[in-house]
Amino acid sequence: MNCFLCQKHEGIIAPPPGGYILDGEYWKICHAPVDRGPLGTLIIESSRHFLDFAQANPDELAEYGPLLKQIYTALKTITKAERIYQLIILESVPHFHA
Ligand SMILES: [Zn+2]
Repeated sequence: MNCFLCQKHEGIIAPPPGGYILDGEYWKICHAPVDRGPLGTLIIESSRHFLDFAQANPDELAEYGPLLKQIYTALKTITKAERIYQLIILESVPHFHA
């Protein structure tokens, strides 16, 4: 497969520094490389290769909301951030990541 994220998940490309914070059946979460975002910038990646929510299956969708609650709560607790922003841009890597 020619997908950067799939290659990372399969170990063909090095895992993110520090590894995955969460390595679940449906979703993986890692911290962004330090040159890609400030401290607290997390990347949520679908474990399975798909582009967006239109292609997600019911189990993936059911887990996404509770996962966001967990992440938002942890980020606010740890960083004391007042606002958490989520951005989904899929131009360069057509594999779901937020
Ligand atoms: Zn992929």
